[in-house]
Amino acid sequence: MVTATKKKMVQWDPADVKAELIKKYPPKVARKRAKQIMINEALENETPEITANVRTTPGIITMRGCTYAGCKGVIMGPTRDIVNLVHGPIGCSFYAWLTRRNQTDAGPDGDNFINYCFSTDMQEQDIIFGGEKKLAAAVQEIYDLMHPKSIAIFATCPVGLIGDDIHTVAKNMKDKLGDCNVYAFSCEGYKGVSQSAGHHIANNQVFRHIVGENDTPTEGEFKINLLGEYNIGGDGFEIDRIFKKCGITNIATFSGNSTYDQFATAHQADLNAVMCHRSINYVADMLETKFGIPWIKVNFIGANATAKSLRKIAAYFEDQALIDRVEAVIKEEMPEVETAVADIRSRTEGKTAMLFVGGSRAHHYQELFKEVGMKIISAGYEFAHRDDYEGRQVLPNLKVDADSRNIEEIEVEADATRFKPRKTPVQLVALEDAGVKFKHYDGLAPDMEEGTLIIDDLNQYEAEKLVEIMKPDIFCAGIKEKFSIMKLGVPMKQLHSYDSGGPYAGFQGAINFYHEIDRLTSSKVWTYLKAPWQESPELTAAYVWE
Ligand code: SF4
Repeated sequence: MVTATKKKMVQWDPADVKAELIKKYPPKVARKRAKQIMINEALENETPEITANVRTTPGIITMRGCTYAGCKGVIMGPTRDIVNLVHGPIGCSFYAWLTRRNQTDAGPDGDNFINYCFSTDMQEQDIIFGGEKKLAAAVQEIYDLMHPKSIAIFATCPVGLIGDDIHTVAKNMKDKLGDCNVYAFSCEGYKGVSQSAGHHIANNQVFRHIVGENDTPTEGEFKINLLGEYNIGGDGFEIDRIFKKCGITNIATFSGNSTYDQFATAHQADLNAVMCHRSINYVADMLETKFGIPWIKVNFIGANATAKSLRKIAAYFEDQALIDRVEAVIKEEMPEVETAVADIRSRTEGKTAMLFVGGSRAHHYQELFKEVGMKIISAGYEFAHRDDYEGRQVLPNLKVDADSRNIEEIEVEADATRFKPRKTPVQLVALEDAGVKFKHYDGLAPDMEEGTLIIDDLNQYEAEKLVEIMKPDIFCAGIKEKFSIMKLGVPMKQLHSYDSGGPYAGFQGAINFYHEIDRLTSSKVWTYLKAPWQESPELTAAYVWE
């Protein structure tokens, strides 16, 4: 275990840091990790290659979650009126009970199952004799008790191992119940290299079983879907407040504060605005292919990023009244943001941060840190693919490996009656020329300074080494990293579930975040912190290869 001291290295060479991170690994592991640690030399149109979306080396304490966590926890967890039933042992349901702090607003219908945890609680006899009957009984019990519009079934590792046919159970129960859409996700934890595989599986099934199921016309002007926003700590509420003020109609968020009917009517939107590229780009592509809805990348994390994204949406609709209203909203919201920055910046200017979170958050949150004058010295994702680092232009060159082949690619075609291109090819070209780029994401690397370290699938050992060498003023990651980093005397902010804070999106969220970062990085408490092994050095350990 290393401990950070408060003395900062004035300068460090990124190549030295990289060498130090992999120095103690066996040669084969070091070679593999070296490809996942990139010294950023991204230039315009040219980004060095990083290895991503590959299996974690056994024995390394990864920050990743499993495929089931990505499917159930990330994508389907935030929906409020779909009952999410976990078919598996109860331990997997750690991810089924609000661990991500998704918030929801029950709305006029009042249906809200988000604060329940549904599990078949598989026991030894179910593993031996099969759990299909128990699953069907659980679906029936849920229906009798709750009468939901929809029940989603999630497979965990043991279910895949014993071969329960969850899809047939789902279909039989759907036919039996009549007014409840039941479907299943083959999202066993072992299926992919990380939670990213679970996102893809969730996207496929939501598209196959729900999107486009409801043609009842939706009301409102300037209809969009917001994809990849999960309403952690109320982020989605703040974004919806801003949309409402601007006169933009959000048909469906995938999937923060979402409902079954929002997903079912999502094909009626005229634009998809994609926040988290990694987790939801599959739905964006499928909505375009089947219904003709284009997508653009947005980011509502950071006040300037929010303003930029609103302007992009307004530019897409080419409506002067909307463009003017968006400008008026930005003008009204920004003074409070600027006052907060002016108050805080003298304490945060020049401080440093590290971000290791998600498949987009390590990118999005750089905006907020930059707004208060802080530098990102190292960042990376837990479950990203190369396009999330280097930009989508690498997609045609990505190799399909055995792990990727494990995840179904569904065939989508233009809908015979409902496909309607929202813009003509001439309009699309004109918008591209005006800066509204479609199906476009530049990735993390071009936005980071030259010489910074970009690290894929950081692990606990490397995290501690990085903190020891580079001594950031704040480290951002998830719950598994929280306490090990804090024990090194460095403040740690969870950016998956926000600890107990939020919202951090939009204008009001930015102000909340500035205050939180000011509080964490200005606190003197870290200088008083003495870990037990600093005072009682008898607690020592060595790695087996030392
Ligand atoms: S890895 Fe498998 S057993 Fe573990 S939580 Fe995920 S689904 Fe459950």
